Amino acid sequence: MYKELKEYAIQNSIPIVEDETLEFLINFIKENNIENILEIGSAIGYSAINMAGSCDIQIETIERDIYRYNIAKININKYNLDNKIKIHNMDALNFDTNEKFDLIFIDASKSQNIKFFEKFKENLSKDGYIITDNLNFHGMINTDYNSLTKNVKGLVRKINSYVDFLNENKEFETKFLSIGDKISISKKI
Ligand code: SAM
Repeated sequence: MYKELKEYAIQNSIPIVEDETLEFLINFIKENNIENILEIGSAIGYSAINMAGSCDIQIETIERDIYRYNIAKININKYNLDNKIKIHNMDALNFDTNEKFDLIFIDASKSQNIKFFEKFKENLSKDGYIITDNLNFHGMINTDYNSLTKNVKGLVRKINSYVDFLNENKEFETKFLSIGDKISISKKI
C-alpha cells in the first residue's frame, strides 16, 4: 500500500521498513489487539501511515529531522490520518509522556537502541511489546568486520551490544525473528 510513498523514499534514499516487516507488524497489531503505538523514527511517515491505514490504532511517532518531519506531516494529512497519527518533531530522547503504549516500535538511530529501550520501557502498557528493527543492519552484521568502514564498524558494535543487552535483560524476554532486516520482540517477564 501507499506505493508512491515507498517510491519517494527509494528515490530520495530515505530508509523505510521492509515489506516483510511491515506485513508482520500489521498482522502482529491485529493478532495482539494493539490499540496504540509509539514509534521512534517516523522518516516520511511510511510505516506509521501503513499501520494506521490498515489497523484500528492510534500512533504517536517521533522524527528529529525537520525536513522528513514536514514531509511526513503532509503525507499523514494527504491520507486523512491526522486523527490517528500524531507526529512530534524532536529528538526522541527528549520526548516525555506519561502515556502507556501497547507497542513501542524502535526504528531510529541504530546506535541509540539501548537508550530508547531504557527510556521508553516505562511507557509500556501491561503486556506491551517493544519491537526493534534492523538488527542485521542491512546485512552488515554478517559481513567480514575488517572490510567495514570505521563508521559502520562502530554501528555494528552498537547493534551487537544491543542484542547482548536484550539477551541478558532480566526484566524482558526477547525473541529474534529473521524477518526483513531482522527484528526483536521484547515482552516484560
Ligand atoms: N519508521 C520509518 C518507516 O519505516 O517509514 C523509517 C524510519 S528511518 C529508518 C529512521 C528515522 O529516525 C530517520 O528519519 C531519522 O532521522 C530518525 N531518527 C534517528 N534518530 C532519532 C532520534 N534520536 N529521535 C528522533 N528521530 C530519530
